[in-house]
Amino acid sequence: MPAKKNRDKSDKVPAAEPAPVASEEAEGPPPPEPKPPVQVLYCGVCTFPVEYCEFGEHITRCKEWLQEKDIDVYNKYYSEEALQAKIGTLSLEAQTKLEKDTAKKEAKAEAKADAALKKKLASQITIKRIERNKRKHVTAIHGLEAFGIDLKKAAKQFASKFATGASVTKNPQGQEEIVVQGDVSDEVLEMIEGEVGLLKGIPADNVEIVEEKKKKGGD
Ligand SMILES: [Zn+2]
Repeated sequence: MPAKKNRDKSDKVPAAEPAPVASEEAEGPPPPEPKPPVQVLYCGVCTFPVEYCEFGEHITRCKEWLQEKDIDVYNKYYSEEALQAKIGTLSLEAQTKLEKDTAKKEAKAEAKADAALKKKLASQITIKRIERNKRKHVTAIHGLEAFGIDLKKAAKQFASKFATGASVTKNPQGQEEIVVQGDVSDEVLEMIEGEVGLLKGIPADNVEIVEEKKKKGGD
């Protein structure tokens, strides 16, 4: 029978392998195929899958990132219980080593954060009170971008806070700055000190208020 012969031929190739696989399957780990696809969340800081962040050098920043990104995943790896569970399964020796390693990594990450902070500390923010005429002032805020602040968004924040006009413009030196209508320099300083809205992470010591009086004889 030609039909049977054909079937035999087609069966023969796949039949050769499944038999041993099937017996292995019974005892060993399941073959990879039936597994549901694994959703890997990659870290936005170190780019590793998030469960490997601890092997990177940015663990402090990684944790901050993950905490904002997905609090559930964060808790899975870093909550007090998760850390306790992890440490609880280790021998005392391993616990000590883990703590030492973690401390080392944290120190390294902190050193990096310190370097970034130093750079920020060197960046000055100027709030300039500019007198346009006897009764009209504008306030120019310069240097916020060094702290990762979006100038346009910050201008919007000032505009709504003071119910006035605020825009991002280039100063005579060609640098972008925020210009707010009216004299709001003290209030802006207070907002920076209070880390209001977008104005976070700016050391108040870096902020300086300066006055720019209208030059005499100008009118
Ligand atoms: Zn990471």
